[in-house]
Amino acid sequence: MDADVIVVGAGVAGLTAADRLVAQGRSVLVLEARDRVGGRTLTADVPGFPPYVVDQGGQWVGPGQDLLYKELSRFGLATQPQSTGGSALVVFRGKARRYTGRIPKLDPLTLLDVGQTQFRFDRLARTVDLAQPWRTPRAADLDSQTFETWLRRTCFTERGRDFFRTACEAVFATVPANLSLLHALFYCASGTSLETLISTVGGAQQDRVVEGLGTLAVRLTAHLGDRVRLGTPVRAISQDETGVRVQTPTGELSARRVIVAVPPTLAGRIAYTPALPARRDQLTQRAPHGGIIKCHAVYDSPFWRADGLSAEAASDRGPVKVAFDASPAGAGGPGILLAFLDGPESLRLGEVSAEQRRAEVLQSLTRFVGPRALEPVAFLERDWNAEEWTRGCYGAHLPPGAWTQVGAALREPVGRVHWAGTETAERWCGYVDGAIASGERAAAEAHTALS
Ligand SMILES: Cc1cc2nc3c(=O)[nH]c(=O)nc-3n(C[C@H](O)[C@H](O)[C@H](O)COP(=O)(O)OP(=O)(O)OC[C@H]3O[C@@H](n4cnc5c(N)ncnc54)[C@H](O)[C@@H]3O)c2cc1C
Repeated sequence: MDADVIVVGAGVAGLTAADRLVAQGRSVLVLEARDRVGGRTLTADVPGFPPYVVDQGGQWVGPGQDLLYKELSRFGLATQPQSTGGSALVVFRGKARRYTGRIPKLDPLTLLDVGQTQFRFDRLARTVDLAQPWRTPRAADLDSQTFETWLRRTCFTERGRDFFRTACEAVFATVPANLSLLHALFYCASGTSLETLISTVGGAQQDRVVEGLGTLAVRLTAHLGDRVRLGTPVRAISQDETGVRVQTPTGELSARRVIVAVPPTLAGRIAYTPALPARRDQLTQRAPHGGIIKCHAVYDSPFWRADGLSAEAASDRGPVKVAFDASPAGAGGPGILLAFLDGPESLRLGEVSAEQRRAEVLQSLTRFVGPRALEPVAFLERDWNAEEWTRGCYGAHLPPGAWTQVGAALREPVGRVHWAGTETAERWCGYVDGAIASGERAAAEAHTALS
């Protein structure tokens, strides 16, 4: 045997699983397809402004994500609040309105409609069984409709519906027509509430990591040393009563257990012998990813602050529907605007030239901070849809019927094969905190099975 446990994937989930197993005295190998660790987290230098960095993948940490705060503090990684000074902006139907606080400035009728819809959504979300969403009261009913069809019935104004469509794209990186209502409710309850997921202060966008959230995976890897092998995609896994064998382009490795710490859709691209149970395989066929291109426009200074703007902005029209200030804290650093291309826009703009994409993003940003947006000194982008070992973001969403018909296979081990990854988390599913929780759970499962 090459190890007690082989972990597939060196994202935060896989690295956490390996770290916890090593702490229990188990021998571990982590096999990672890419030539880097971190998966959906990745920190990059800001060109021309050392030592500043931006996160091209996962970035924020917020209240309730205790596992992540604990892990950051373990490795001495400091957080800083997301900059929120000044007014935020909402651009609806082409009209820009400034506001401060949590409630965007929409007309009173739309606000009332948004409020009553959110109240109904939160009331339903509180009924979700996070451990077993398919056991939620009225699960079959909630899982037989999309978030979009529910919105059309519940939210009376088109502007109100557009507010939720924008929020949905920001949170799920896909349109509400693609989501089971049960999944939308589960995901928001898993991260406390929809309001928590779209909020900055007190919400999921509250804090950033000074050295970059991508640094967490790098620190975990340093801890694991040569147990982590890069450039080693796992193509096949076979198991029998003696153990598991894992096929990679550079040869076969054996272990007593394996933890597959990759999103379900990528787990479904590995060949298994014997074949997986039908329910598990169908789950991997029904857990598609949303779409994201994350862009950073870098300027000599955060010029929007002099205009009283925080650069936190949302719009019902794209291509950039959501933007934030990603400048470093303190004076003297560059000004950095973070622009998300979500869902269908990310697919469309993934197919045009880099020049056209840059031009469309910058033009879109002028609606939020004025014409100076057109002249950045640097521009960074990462198309997560095009990444072979991610294929879209932020993570999986389940369409109607999936939770109730195949959801039970999400975490259930198949013989010697265990499943990790943020998609398998009960709390903070889709987030780095959920990835840590999933790694800890799978490590405990494998350790117990080995004992
Ligand atoms: C643009 C963006 C913004 C985000 N923002 C936030 C945020 O602000 N806060 C937050 O908490 N979360 C955020 N997220 C989500 C967060 O990054 C993820 O939830 C988390 O990183 C998932 O970790 P994971 O280990 O479960 O999966 P992954 O990070 O996807 O790790 C899986 C690993 O497995 C590897 N792999 C895949 N297939 C194979 C194979 N066959 N063989 C070997 N290796 C394989 C992959 O290369 C990858 O390294 C964001 C994500 C993106 C993309």
